[in-house]
Amino acid sequence: MSEPFNNQLPSNTGNRILSKAQSNFHQTRREFLRFCGASFCTLSATYLFGLPETSWAQMAKKGLVKTKLSPYFTPLEGGAIQCELCPHRCRVAKGKRGICRVRENRDGKYYSLVYGNPCAVHLDPIEKKPLFHVLPGTASFSLATAGCNFYCKFCQNWEISQAAPEDVYSYEVPPELMVNRAKEIGARSVAYTYVEPTIFYEYMVDIGALVKNSGLINVYHSNGFINPGPLKNLCKVLDAANIDLKGFSDHFYQELCGGNLEPVLETLKTLKREKVHLEITNLVIPTKNDEMSMVREMCLWIKKELGADTPIHFSRFYPLYKLKTLPQTPVSTLDKARAVALSVGLEYVYVGNVPRHEGENTFCPKCKKMLIQRTGYMVGEINVKAGKCKYCGKSIPGIWT
Ligand code: SF4
Repeated sequence: MSEPFNNQLPSNTGNRILSKAQSNFHQTRREFLRFCGASFCTLSATYLFGLPETSWAQMAKKGLVKTKLSPYFTPLEGGAIQCELCPHRCRVAKGKRGICRVRENRDGKYYSLVYGNPCAVHLDPIEKKPLFHVLPGTASFSLATAGCNFYCKFCQNWEISQAAPEDVYSYEVPPELMVNRAKEIGARSVAYTYVEPTIFYEYMVDIGALVKNSGLINVYHSNGFINPGPLKNLCKVLDAANIDLKGFSDHFYQELCGGNLEPVLETLKTLKREKVHLEITNLVIPTKNDEMSMVREMCLWIKKELGADTPIHFSRFYPLYKLKTLPQTPVSTLDKARAVALSVGLEYVYVGNVPRHEGENTFCPKCKKMLIQRTGYMVGEINVKAGKCKYCGKSIPGIWT
């Protein structure tokens, strides 16, 4: 599950807590909040692009469509095309769009319609992605456009993920401006997130190439539903990824997301092979994917295929969008999932959306001491030094400097 684009979790989940490092970076918490527009949720563009609020508001426009030729399509007979970007492999007639709503066949060529037009731009704690082993306590310049290649019934960003580019307010932000502003504002990373970033692939790759030469890093929160070719190309610029493993059955993916499990597993293996730092999020939804036998099977697969040191986040579900009738996930269910993962041998097992839960913290798998203490998105003490546990010297996977 991608984090909410408007920084509003559905309940009291601590999402407005600022990390110590952020408040340090911006001198004071008050100053940071001023930057963020009083609440972290609408930080967005007014501050991020250094414009007076009115100017920025005037820049946000409905109906923006900026095209860029896709490198991933195959021409078919009669001017139709087949998109090769994600496993849906949409076959699209002239003048029509694919499932994601943001790619259009114009005279037998396939175009992205969202290049340079983000509809969400925020400065987030990197913990919100969530990435717990990547530059803890730093700020991540986060962006999304309209559209998605899934239609998850539990999506918390459905207002933008299930929209066409014309239906949302977007901004004109070329890649250079995005990267310059991320640097100026003091972010340590640029995050492609909130919706499935694959659908704004060309924009992401162009920003990513500039980020790579800027001293920042590229991070990505994705549903993993991307074809191997584009993924391998993306890996050239990608430093870290959090991939949603939404359930461990194809039935779950088909019924609730409009996708399939197998391509997601392939993506996870590719990211591991390509040495992109990898974390996994599993949103635990009551009655849908909360059978501990399924959790166990998933954890065994992760251990075998990706390694015991792959961090996993069991995240709490809150009723919204099309699953409003379900209850929020009991904390006891998350506790059980965490216990299952630890018993299988996974070494870094987290609980998300439950502030002050012990599972927010990082523990050394060898000496068991606390390595990183967290409360919501606030980071306390960090006992990882040069990528190692400061107590016993065990190497801890991640990006630490
Ligand atoms: S990226 Fe969009 S158009 Fe291309 S195959 Fe996926 S859903 Fe279809």
